[in-house]
Amino acid sequence: MAKQPMLKFVTVARDMPEKRPPDLRAHDFGEIYREYADAKAAEQSARCSQCGVPYCQSHCPLHNNIPDWLRLTAEGRLEEAYAISQSTNTFPEICGRICPQDRLCEGNCVIEQSGHGTVTIGAVEKYITDTAWEKGWVKPVQPAQERSESVGIIGAGPGGLAAADMLRRAGVQVTVYDRYDRGGGLMTYGIPGFKLEKDVVMRRVDQLEQSGVQFRLNCEVGRDISFAELRESHDAVLIATGVYKSRDLQAPGIGANGIVRAIDFLTASNRKGFGDAVETFDDGELNAEGKKVVVIGGGDTAMDCVRTSIRQGAESVKCLYRRDRTNMPGSQREVQNAEEEGVEFVWLSAPKGFHGESVAGVMVSKMRLGAPDATGRQSPEIIEGADYVEDADLVIMALGFEPEDLPTLWGQPELEVTRWGTVKADFRTHETSLPGVYAAGDIVRGASLVVWAIRDGREAAAAILDRMNASARVAAE
Ligand code: FAD
Ligand code: SF4
Ligand code: SF4
Repeated sequence: MAKQPMLKFVTVARDMPEKRPPDLRAHDFGEIYREYADAKAAEQSARCSQCGVPYCQSHCPLHNNIPDWLRLTAEGRLEEAYAISQSTNTFPEICGRICPQDRLCEGNCVIEQSGHGTVTIGAVEKYITDTAWEKGWVKPVQPAQERSESVGIIGAGPGGLAAADMLRRAGVQVTVYDRYDRGGGLMTYGIPGFKLEKDVVMRRVDQLEQSGVQFRLNCEVGRDISFAELRESHDAVLIATGVYKSRDLQAPGIGANGIVRAIDFLTASNRKGFGDAVETFDDGELNAEGKKVVVIGGGDTAMDCVRTSIRQGAESVKCLYRRDRTNMPGSQREVQNAEEEGVEFVWLSAPKGFHGESVAGVMVSKMRLGAPDATGRQSPEIIEGADYVEDADLVIMALGFEPEDLPTLWGQPELEVTRWGTVKADFRTHETSLPGVYAAGDIVRGASLVVWAIRDGREAAAAILDRMNASARVAAE
């Protein structure tokens, strides 16, 4: 009988790939985790207990077949592991790097719940597909047959690209329109390189291009081409434009120089990483070097801003958040990484105003947590008489994102949106109130995650294909 390769969680401890030491990683934008060696990936995969009802899988938005690819990795059958992994996930190596696994697959692994430490699912997923790229197993799509129908996709983020991939596999003609000069959406210009190196995203965009996906970059729908024109040119349209309107703060002094938006700061930094000339960075406006930086917000975008500031050589970096550590929205893993790199968190603190024409300080109100609100979260309350000033010469506002007003911007009043401005789309088909127009990702969900955008994009593509196939059948009758 073959030797049982799995269930090693009792004898083998959880072991993540090595993290680069803070004093080394805090000076560059390379990813902080090193790669598993082959033997380590096999050993860690073998810890899985091959649950009959795998909660890891049901809590993965893509319902990845995790137990199967863990077993194949433990057995050294990596090409098969890759085949299974990529059958449900368009970008497994990206999700392996940046999914908040502690809230998704790994947070629901039963051996974690039995106190043995979760299987390192994300790290193994990354390892499998990085290996597949190295070995040349990741190939451009070659549809068995070309179809005449075409789909226009607005937005080259993960939602749009996942749909483009699925549609091309079926032979559909796909054009992706994006107002940026590179594809990838927030994976390219939002998320910093220390979480997701840019060549990992670019090789995917390049491969989609090799698969026959047409990219029309530097093309803003609503400005360079009208939405109506786009609808006329394609059999179906997918809106995957994400959410980009920064939430602002109304407070005295908010217009001072040196108070900037997180998305502008991160985009400039990512552009510099590509070697682009960025005037607002080069003139110092969006560069944290030598500055006392205060970042306002407690989400993952704030975490990315503080860690980017450290890497740019800030004199000091503080993060102000109005609740405490346990009640912050950002991932605890990222807070730990930031603290290791020298960021100071100032909990229970909210900005009240700003000093200086060029910002010199943030007036801070100290807070305590009061009674829970309707959602059950404790509301922060101001502690009277405890205000103080936090010195700062760069303040980065990371208070979240809202959707742009697409019906107005695109002259499409019939495009129904929710009261938050996100596009209304059918839960399963992702079709909007406009026939033949679908929507996916953050523009439907509000600011969310790459893995959810991939799921939406894949589901929308499947619904578009169903509709096309039904029409083709009717035409043939
Ligand atoms: P996007 O990625 O935003 O892509 C939308 C694209 O549409 C953009 O390229 C934009 O240029 C284009 N576009 C918009 N309007 C138009 C128009 N009118 N015409 C043409 N093109 C247009 N998620 C994670 O899972 N893990 C993380 O670690 C993580 N970190 C994040 C860090 C930051 C700083 C931010 C801001 C987000 C982070 N996210 C993370 C969230 C994640 O990036 C998004 O949920 C995801 O990218 C949404 O995908 P999308 O395809 O809906 O939109
Ligand atoms: Fe976990 Fe994300 Fe991979 Fe799903 S896609 S298995 S949630 S890392
Ligand atoms: Fe393996 Fe954990 Fe998933 Fe169970 S829940 S199949 S142990 S990874």
